[in-house]
Amino acid sequence: MKLVFATNNQNKVKEVQSLLPEIISVLSLKDIGCEEDIPETQPTIEGNAIQKAHYVKEHYGYDCFADDTGLEVTALNGEPGVFSARYAGPQRNADDNMNKLLQNLEDKEDRSAQFKTVVALILNGEQFTFTGICKGTIINDKRGDKGFGYDPIFMADGFTETFAQISLEEKNRVGHRGKAVKQLIAFLNKTT
Ligand code: IMP
Repeated sequence: MKLVFATNNQNKVKEVQSLLPEIISVLSLKDIGCEEDIPETQPTIEGNAIQKAHYVKEHYGYDCFADDTGLEVTALNGEPGVFSARYAGPQRNADDNMNKLLQNLEDKEDRSAQFKTVVALILNGEQFTFTGICKGTIINDKRGDKGFGYDPIFMADGFTETFAQISLEEKNRVGHRGKAVKQLIAFLNKTT
């Protein structure tokens, strides 16, 4: 059985493949000849994950899963949320995004935030979603050089280091994407 992961990141594909039985063959967008930008025009993280998965099913015919992630900050009413990648503008620059967020939080006492990943799966004509949440705090300055995006300013609850300071294994264990993917894997192992 072939299942497309709507991503260009071959590492992500390998990681998911290693957790699934051999009868499921996980393909990347490149593997199916999809080199276009898949539209992500929905107003929610969940909507974008669903839109991407449906796009692949409709245009390429494969069952598929897609993920979408955002950082939701309590004092900013859930911003940047679905706009996380382009918070400070279309250049999608992580430093600009973090600077804008730190500036917007300057006068706020509540620094709580959460990362949210939604994985949407289209399988045998049905749609399923899996949500992973990681709660934490936005600190006042950037720390660490691992990871990507907002990792240098996000400290998960129970940690004294940011996501940019801890190992990838640790981040996967407690992180939003890891939690959502674990649910997907459990579901696929049970139903296929
Ligand atoms: P995507 O849906 O995985 O492309 O994520 C959208 C945006 O959210 C990224 O461009 C990053 O700015 C941010 N983001 C997603 N996942 C993470 C993460 O694990 N750490 C930090 N930032 C993230």
